[in-house]
Amino acid sequence: MAIICKQCGEEVDELFSVTVTGRKTKVCEDCLEIIQEQAQIAEESESAIQGMMGFKGKR
Ligand SMILES: [Zn+2]
Repeated sequence: MAIICKQCGEEVDELFSVTVTGRKTKVCEDCLEIIQEQAQIAEESESAIQGMMGFKGKR
């Protein structure tokens, strides 16, 4: 039985449930990593804006 990742269209062995901007979707491991990375970046840039009053240049 073939499982297709909805994100990249690749045939994969396993799908992982992930919530993207409030929507639940199933993606392969590669896409999951990308989504998690992007979510982390979004979170970091948000806290970076909040932290701009205090720190600068912290990575
Ligand atoms: Zn994928």
